[in-house]
This record gives sequence, structure tokens and C-alpha cells, in this order.
Amino acid sequence: MRYFGNVIRPPSEAESYILQVTFGCSHNKCTFCPTYLDKSFRIRPVNEIMEDIETAHNHISQTRRIFLADGNALVLSNQKLMPILDALNSAFPELQRIGIYANTSDILRKTDQELKELRAKKLSIIYIGLESGSNKVLKRVNKGVTAEETINAVGKAQNAGFKVSVIGILGLGGADLLEEHAVATGRAISAMSPLYFSLLTLMIVPGTALHTQWTEGKFILPNPLDMLQEMRVVIENIKVSSGCIFRTNHASNYLPLAGRLPNDKERLLITIDHALAKGEPSLRPEFLRGL
Ligand code: SF4
Repeated sequence: MRYFGNVIRPPSEAESYILQVTFGCSHNKCTFCPTYLDKSFRIRPVNEIMEDIETAHNHISQTRRIFLADGNALVLSNQKLMPILDALNSAFPELQRIGIYANTSDILRKTDQELKELRAKKLSIIYIGLESGSNKVLKRVNKGVTAEETINAVGKAQNAGFKVSVIGILGLGGADLLEEHAVATGRAISAMSPLYFSLLTLMIVPGTALHTQWTEGKFILPNPLDMLQEMRVVIENIKVSSGCIFRTNHASNYLPLAGRLPNDKERLLITIDHALAKGEPSLRPEFLRGL
């Protein structure tokens, strides 16, 4: 149970045993992302992974949830992933689910059969960053994929039986592309209809390319109330028929919300309208925000 560098996990994996099977992110080029600037991508040696599983088995054998880190652990081939999943299933008899971060290309690269094989080993939830439904925004932040590719990847994973949790980022379009970012993100979520959709709010971190653009005046961060209005437009544009659990429970957000779409849409919009009417005092103060 050793960890290398900055390790993150989704808020909903707070109770999970975190196992690093890769270090960093194989893309690591998104202009806004500070997460893995401290380490180059590499695959963790399998003997180290197995040693960690053995140690965890000796200390926390009743583990029910496991999260595989780092940034896009699904980049591993099935040849590498399947023995790790087998070891986890045998070390933790009460294991209920394994979660993982993926980049769009990691899902698209796998065959339907390979995804089903992983699913059969209790790998059941994939977290993926759409970030924006606007290709203009995605290109500008160097995401490396289009919204259509992520829509296809999410559909492919869902068809293989995975739960998919999709992440978007408020403010990512800057002030100039705010409306386009919001509308396109809502539409992309409608096209994927994921089980979970979460919004984070952009925080510009020193050391990132976006920070340089921002300090040079090439990127204008919308103000908090504009980003709240942006969230309103995202939600307005989400049209799903099956239940989508919507959350803004990440520490970066100004207004924590939770609901199920489409049923709670009106309530969510009314809550945002109340916050907009009250202004900045209704928002989480800057000093309490975090990544
Ligand atoms: S946002 Fe995701 S894909 Fe982009 S660099 Fe960060 S971890 Fe990698």
C-alpha cells in the first residue's frame, strides 16, 4: 500500500481502497490539468502491484470497493489488467465493485469482448472526463479527443454493462465560449445519457498552460455568478429519459447540488435561480474551494 506522487480519486470513491496500477496520465496535455505534472506516465511493475494487494489483504481484507489509479488506468491492456482483477477478487471476498478512470481512447481501443471480460471481473464503474461538449473548447484545452468520440466511448462502455460517470468543467470555455460550452455540454450529456454526471468548476492552477494563458490575458475566467448561470444552461439542455444522477459535490464548486434528471430538473433550476438572486453571499467562499 505504497503511493507515488499526487493521487486523486472521485468523491464517490472516498471509502474505497485506492490501488495505483499506473502512474500519471498517458495524455497529460490538457492545458487546465495540474494533477500529474509531478510525474511522467508509466505502468507500475506488476510485482509491486501484487505486493500491495497482499499487504491490503492482510490489513483490510473486508474491503468492498476498490479504485484503480492513476489518471487513466484503463489504458492498461486486458493482458495486464485481468491478472490484477483476478488477484483483487481472490484477496477480497466481499468485494462489490472496482472503479477506474479512463480516457476516451482507452475505451475505444478495447473490443466489446474485452470490455465484457473486465466487467465480469467486477470492474463496474468508469469515470471519464468529457470536460466540454464543444469541440472548439476541447481543441483549445488540448483534450485530444472530440465530444463525439467521448459520446461513442460512453455508449460502448454502457453497452458492455458498465456504469459510467461523466465529468464536465464549468468555466472551461472562458468568458467568450461560455454559452457554447454550456449548450454543447448539455447536449452531449443528452446524447450519452450516463448514469452519473458531475460538474466541477475550473480552478486555474499555477504551472499549467492555462495559467500562463490567463496571466497573459489570453483566457478570461468567467466570474462565479456567470459560471452558475452556465450551470443553469447546461442543466436546461440535458434531455434524458432514463435517470441520470447529477451532482456538483466536488470541492471546486460554488453551489453543491444533487438530483436525478429529468425528475429534479425544475428543482435544480429553481435552486440555481435563488442562488443567482442572492448573489455571491450564497456561494461557497473561495477559501473553502479546492481540487
Ligand atoms: S484532464 Fe484527464 S486526460 Fe487531461 S491531462 Fe488531466 S488526467 Fe490526463
